[in-house]
Amino acid sequence: MALRRRRRTFHRRKVCRFCVDSELKIDYKDAKTLRYFITERGKIVPRRISGNCAKHQRVLTLAVKRARQIALLPFTTIHTV
Ligand SMILES: [Zn+2]
Repeated sequence: MALRRRRRTFHRRKVCRFCVDSELKIDYKDAKTLRYFITERGKIVPRRISGNCAKHQRVLTLAVKRARQIALLPFTTIHTV
C-alpha cells in the first residue's frame, strides 16, 4: 500500500480553495459552492481530490450534510434509467 513513488499526475494546484480565497465561505445555504465539492451523484468529493485541507473539508462535509437536510443537495441522484 505504501507506494512512495511519485505517480505522474497532472500538476493541479493542491491547495485548499477556502484557504486561498478568503472571500469564499462555506455556507450550507450556498448550494452553488457546495455543489463544487460533491460528485454528480451527490457524494462528497474526497479530500485528496478536492484538495481541501482537513479543517475546511470537515466544515464542508458538515455544510453538505446540513444542506441535504434542508434538501438543497441530493443525498443521491435518483437515476431514471
Ligand atoms: Zn483550508
